[in-house]
Amino acid sequence: MLLGCIADDFTGATDLANTLSRHGMRTVQIIGEPTGLPPDTDAIVVALKSRTIPAKDAVAQSLAACRWLKQHGARQIYFKYCSTFDSTDAGNIGPVADALLDELGSSFTIACPAFPENGRTIYMGHLFVGQVLLSDSSMRHHPLTPMLDSNLVNVLARQTPHRTGLVAHATVKQGAGAIAAAFAELQSRGIRHAIIDAIEDIDLHHLGEAVANLDVVTGGSGAAIGLPENFRKAGLLSKRENVKPLAPVGGGGVVLSGSSSAATLAQVAAMSAKHPAFAIDVAVLFSNKDKAIGEVLLWAVEKLKASPTLIYASAPPEKVSEIQSRFGREKAGAVIEEAIAAIATGLAKSGVRRFVVAGGETSGAVVSALGVKALEIGPQISPGVPATLSYGEPRYALALKSGNFGGPEFFSEALEALK
Ligand code: ADP
Repeated sequence: MLLGCIADDFTGATDLANTLSRHGMRTVQIIGEPTGLPPDTDAIVVALKSRTIPAKDAVAQSLAACRWLKQHGARQIYFKYCSTFDSTDAGNIGPVADALLDELGSSFTIACPAFPENGRTIYMGHLFVGQVLLSDSSMRHHPLTPMLDSNLVNVLARQTPHRTGLVAHATVKQGAGAIAAAFAELQSRGIRHAIIDAIEDIDLHHLGEAVANLDVVTGGSGAAIGLPENFRKAGLLSKRENVKPLAPVGGGGVVLSGSSSAATLAQVAAMSAKHPAFAIDVAVLFSNKDKAIGEVLLWAVEKLKASPTLIYASAPPEKVSEIQSRFGREKAGAVIEEAIAAIATGLAKSGVRRFVVAGGETSGAVVSALGVKALEIGPQISPGVPATLSYGEPRYALALKSGNFGGPEFFSEALEALK
């Protein structure tokens, strides 16, 4: 193993695994805290579900993963979070990054969620989603981690007792040497976390070269695109090859959506127009969960005989707010996640093997419920989302999508790609 990665949610892990695999590293995604011996591969991405849990738990789980990765040879640790820097003032990006630095005896790292291919760019430390600032994007309404401040230097400063700083684009565009010199200057001022501006992939390639010797790197999946080349230059990684197609699993295909992000809402609308779709009534779920799940399963098993189907809890921001004020934000999220996970296992029992899941937290719940321990990474379906195949028996073909990824036709594209 060359690179050991820790991701704070499942779709984020898949997104990073996709990036590494497309840049020529054989990559395996492991679900949850790893145990035993690692598979023979260039990079391992440990997928935690630590984005919104209490910071001390996120730190404990991340440290356990880090120790296992180091013990099995990882030369560098990469901490992956969302390209929209999803977090709260309590963490968990700052506390986990600090704990990893302490664990490895290091005093400096970077933070860069930029993902230009998906419209996430950083300028003067401010994160943009497409043409708008993060705080003006739909992320301000996120059910669990509303993002109300676009200045990442300040966002991160609220999550760590240490100093945060910036490497601005004017420096980044000059290349790895200039970035490394900026690291030295920031460190001399006692800065421990540097936000890095990045507008285009070339910026991330420069950054990749500049972080070759850091013990810990933190970022979205984009900031990892330059890392495989470091290992190649060091003679540790062979020439880049195309990602191989995955073995087919066959059978019906279902889309499960627990994401209420703007991109998902458009995808739900597009799929509902063409295929049978079931909207989960959250109020009914609260009054009689088992009955509600039973009804969905009965409906889906029948429909799946003839067509791909969609089951969703996704709802527009005003509806989500109403549900949250009635049932509580966390409680509503957890009950919906559990229900979608139970629907997935019910469908798996009836033979369904192809699942498209929308939502990071939702994907975590589904994959855990299906008992999946590790994923093989296949070709990309859409930026940030590869086709994957679970290890073990039975094998599931899975597409795990972060809320805001994919175009309106993503669900159909994904079902097509999962053979
Ligand atoms: P995303 O990737 O879009 O952020 P996640 O699955 O990570 O999606 O998070 C969405 C959260 O919102 C989940 O906890 C989910 O259960 C919850 N949720 C989904 N639909 C609704 C709804 N209609 N009302 C309230 N919460 C919802």
